[in-house]
Amino acid sequence: MAGFPNPALHAFVAQIGQGCTLAQVWITPHHGGFGLRHVADSSASDTDLLLTDIAALRALAQSTAEADFRPNKAAPNLRRGWRCVARDAQELESALRQLYPGALADWYAAQSPTPPITSYRDLAARQTGLYRITQILPDALAAQATIACCDSRFCLRRRLWTVPGLTPDAVEAKSVIPCLEPCSQLLDFARCAMKLEQQPKAEFTPAEGDVAVLVNALEIALENPKRGVREGSSADPANPRRLRLLLEKFRPWLPAEGEAEE
Ligand code: SF4
Repeated sequence: MAGFPNPALHAFVAQIGQGCTLAQVWITPHHGGFGLRHVADSSASDTDLLLTDIAALRALAQSTAEADFRPNKAAPNLRRGWRCVARDAQELESALRQLYPGALADWYAAQSPTPPITSYRDLAARQTGLYRITQILPDALAAQATIACCDSRFCLRRRLWTVPGLTPDAVEAKSVIPCLEPCSQLLDFARCAMKLEQQPKAEFTPAEGDVAVLVNALEIALENPKRGVREGSSADPANPRRLRLLLEKFRPWLPAEGEAEE
């Protein structure tokens, strides 16, 4: 391992041991190199999986099993049913770059004594044009938009950056791949949340029991997302992130634990 040109790769390989998971990829030592497959296929036999070469992983990561485009490569919808062999550490790096671009470098950077983390407020302060509006989100709305956009149903990167009122994600809640600053999808979603906030408000005073029904309906809709909705389209009311945001807005209205209607 001495003389490794890439310290991030060196450090990552050193902690693989008998096997490790990077988001949805299970990596194991394999005949002096490494084997990769979807973590849900970790106990599948080799013959049941399609042997895929490293160059083909890029195409594999581009779309879901339903052939929808994956704008966020850390979304928890990586296709299953494949395996790949990397003959050495360099090939492993190449394979992981196809599946999770930037993940190794970010993972390594997050372990430095002063990780290069940019908070929501710092990043928003630098926005101009269309995204300048992200500067004026009240703290509570910025936190709600972050909870909604970065939910583990949509992204497995572990958020290390913060917004007032929110602590960073735990590894167990996401994965070891860190998120060091708000991504373009988050900024677009924050912009959408602020635009919604500026719209005229309808008078609506539901009973607590009705709020519980709405929350349940949103949970069900989140578990059964409408097909064909573009993940990156924050403006689409059927976007699951929009459902998640509304859910977050309703939560404070729910009766406290033990006070639910009889
Ligand atoms: S900002 Fe949120 S959605 Fe974007 S990569 Fe980071 S954790 Fe994922």
